[in-house]
Amino acid sequence: MSETTDEAAIGQLLARVRIVLVGTVHSGNIGAAARAMKNMGLRRLYLAAPVEFPHREATYRAVQAADLLESAVVTASLEEAVADCSLVIGTSARERRIQLPQLGPRELGPLCLGERRGEEIALVFGREDSGLSNEELRLCHWHVHVPTSADYSSLNLAAAVQLLCYELRMTALAQQGTLAAPPWDEPLATVEGMERFYEHLDATLTDIGFLNPAAPRQLMTRLRRLFNRVRMDQMELNILRGILTEIGKIRAAAGRESSPNS
Ligand code: SAH
Repeated sequence: MSETTDEAAIGQLLARVRIVLVGTVHSGNIGAAARAMKNMGLRRLYLAAPVEFPHREATYRAVQAADLLESAVVTASLEEAVADCSLVIGTSARERRIQLPQLGPRELGPLCLGERRGEEIALVFGREDSGLSNEELRLCHWHVHVPTSADYSSLNLAAAVQLLCYELRMTALAQQGTLAAPPWDEPLATVEGMERFYEHLDATLTDIGFLNPAAPRQLMTRLRRLFNRVRMDQMELNILRGILTEIGKIRAAAGRESSPNS
């Protein structure tokens, strides 16, 4: 996490989204889903008609997200879990099986965290064995499918929760402006610095006989391309300049030794 991430602000943005697990069969998946949510900064878990809850397997798999299980809202049906929502998004392991507008995972964040503040949104996950029923899907405005391999399209329930909560977090981080990588620890080399380095390199390579000024070919062009791809920082540039200076000293000393006047 970058030091500038304001977790409270991220949490506030994500607070409009509740995760609803419908008819979960394996209690361990409830715990793993809670953990996946908390890792990504989501906190509101709804359990619609879970087969068994609370359950020690759920608590065990939640690890440090047991607080999400304690605050989980248990309802008798999906309809009850989403009654106060204005946007309901179902998830499914299969594509186009469902006559609902389909949303890509990358579009989920912008749709959920877009401009309509105060909106209550549900992201709904189905049963491990049979997913969501047609009646349950009728409550949804959209459905999201993670584009999995055609050889095996069905994700583990908690893995599906993890992926989609990650997408929500990425959007929240982008909105907070904290998605960018932390700054490099050294200032980058400037054009001026690089030009002095290339002059030094050219002189050294000529001095040691690697570069023939009469027939330079494309050597310096290729070396420029190589170093420009790297985008060196000033410290790295100084190291390379230092190496060239040492080569120059050795050449000068060798020249003195071989000179008859020395
Ligand atoms: N045989 C069931 C599989 C359900 S997997 C079916 O075909 O629907 C359990 C739940 O995990 C799904 O209901 C869905 O909520 C989620 N899930 C699994 N794979 C997914 C995928 N590729 N994209 C989106 N959600 C998925």
